[in-house]
Amino acid sequence: MLAAFSYVGFQRQNCAVGEDVENLKQRLPLLDYLRQQSWTARPIAFGPEFVGLCPLHPETRPSFYVNARKNLFYCHGCGQGGDLIRFVQLSRQLSFRQSVAYLQQQSTVPSDSLAVLEQAAIFYQQQLERHPEALRYLQQRGLRDPALIKELRIGYAPGGSLRRHLTAQGYSFDLLQRLGLLNPQGCDAFYRRVIFPCCQG
Ligand SMILES: [Zn+2]
Repeated sequence: MLAAFSYVGFQRQNCAVGEDVENLKQRLPLLDYLRQQSWTARPIAFGPEFVGLCPLHPETRPSFYVNARKNLFYCHGCGQGGDLIRFVQLSRQLSFRQSVAYLQQQSTVPSDSLAVLEQAAIFYQQQLERHPEALRYLQQRGLRDPALIKELRIGYAPGGSLRRHLTAQGYSFDLLQRLGLLNPQGCDAFYRRVIFPCCQG
């Protein structure tokens, strides 16, 4: 019934202008960025390397490698390689400076967005109480303590209802989409998923 756990990321850090590029790369690891861009990859053995189709050139056999520990990529097909900034330069045809600015924007959630994410977390929590099948699922996974479930703020996304709930509160469609609460088609991004809000910072 419930295939996987999903995560709503809460990022509270704000990024200072002229932030050190190394900090930026640490805050937004290359692999995370690629996954946000829908890059699918498989790990190579149990190491830190992943391989998938190259997002920079058309190909049918995966030759794009990412080393998650080194935070670097290399494609044996087109010969391109480097770090996150380099990847953004190549994939978006931006200069180094533009790429850094773009990534800073991508990895920073303005404070009004935090209010929306908070509302979404509350909504999901309320839904958990209304969906016994989700509670049963948590029990199967060994989570039986109501106090712990509350403390971890675990919720449930039934799908097809968050959008209505948040737009009724005046939040824009665009904002909800940018935060990943709605998918590109405008539907609830999470459908029949147990939600663990991740609060960072
Ligand atoms: Zn390539």
